Amino acid sequence: MSPIQTPSPAASPSTDTATRLPLAHRTDYLVGSVIDSSTALLAAQRHDIVRFAMGSPAPEAIPTHTLAQVGVAEIGAEAPDAFDYAATHGDPALIAALLSQLEGTSDATTQDRLTITSGGMQGLDLVCKLFVDPGDLVVVESPTYTNGSATALSYQAELLEVPVDEEGMDIDALVAAVDRAGRAPKVIYTIPTFQNPSGVTMTLPRRRRLLELACRWGSVVLDDDPYGMLDFGGPQEPTLHELADGDPLVVSVRTFSKIVAPGLRVGWMDTDPSLQPLLIAAKQAMDTCTNLPAQRLIAAFLREGHLDAHLTTQRLRYAERKTAMQTALAEHFGGRAHWTDPGGGFFLWLTFDEPVDTQALFPVALAEGVAYIPGNAFSPAGAFPHALRLCFASSAPARIAEGVSRLARAVDVLQGR
Ligand code: PMP
Repeated sequence: MSPIQTPSPAASPSTDTATRLPLAHRTDYLVGSVIDSSTALLAAQRHDIVRFAMGSPAPEAIPTHTLAQVGVAEIGAEAPDAFDYAATHGDPALIAALLSQLEGTSDATTQDRLTITSGGMQGLDLVCKLFVDPGDLVVVESPTYTNGSATALSYQAELLEVPVDEEGMDIDALVAAVDRAGRAPKVIYTIPTFQNPSGVTMTLPRRRRLLELACRWGSVVLDDDPYGMLDFGGPQEPTLHELADGDPLVVSVRTFSKIVAPGLRVGWMDTDPSLQPLLIAAKQAMDTCTNLPAQRLIAAFLREGHLDAHLTTQRLRYAERKTAMQTALAEHFGGRAHWTDPGGGFFLWLTFDEPVDTQALFPVALAEGVAYIPGNAFSPAGAFPHALRLCFASSAPARIAEGVSRLARAVDVLQGR
């Protein structure tokens, strides 16, 4: 199969009326998100289902009390301007708090590089809007974050899948794939740290080589790193942002979704300052500005120093859950499957050693009371029929053990054992 993927028109109009509407050609490229659709599917299931599907922080990991406390002053009756329109590139209070939060870290930056976005997704969309013309080549990791590849597709990119191994994106395979394609990628989309869905982290030599190649090809590196702050205490690689040292080809997208709360829909982008006027114009044509009360809430949360303590607790929580999942997997799937060993983040990636169709397994698993995302959701080419993504972040260790045992039962049922 060609490594270059164009969409099979996925979201074809679903009603007679829709087929008569003069839809734009680009709607052929709106493929939707298997991950997000599974939320609705799960909502309709029995409520004791063990949820390994969505990449959400655990409910108990969302600092609701602290946010409510800081919110009273920040967006209460004393602060009516918190409900007005805000500056498109971001509220000054959040920008100031974020700059000092990032000081001394691998993501340290300056005010002229920051744009506050409506979550990480808007950052991905803005990068594609600015750089991807129809037919442009966009490299995605294989497996990759579905909504990221879907965003590139929505701008009519041709996707070039490059395998990921335990050291992150395989750079030799990248070079070979680009050689075969015969043209340089416009954008290289990577999730270098605690990748979604595999949990793996790109090594330092590969990070350096990726940046060198991007420089040689003139490709934009879309550095999507929502999980980097959720490490389990091992050695950390410098971010692509830090290694790039101001190279305008590197655009970094970050979010508060995994470290504070996804429903607030606040993230940020770090780009060369020369891009800011275009980013602002593009964002003005989308949403004018990011939700101001949400920005103010996060600003207060950071300013009052809550994030560091919160992260310390979450790292311990998620590390314990990862271990619980690996222990349960070893008990139920030892010798039948292998899985990754993430140094942080939310996910691990399981591959069956025997051909277990994880798409066919899905309804059986739901009936047994456990949900996950089938591997093919993470590859436009459908390269992972025998793999699946498990989110260990959302469930307590005992539930994880129960969920993995239900998954093992589902495999038995599927295989008629
Ligand atoms: N990139 C990756 C790799 C993600 O896992 C996610 C969230 N699942 C996002 C981007 C989007 O983040 P947000 O929810 O802030 O839009």
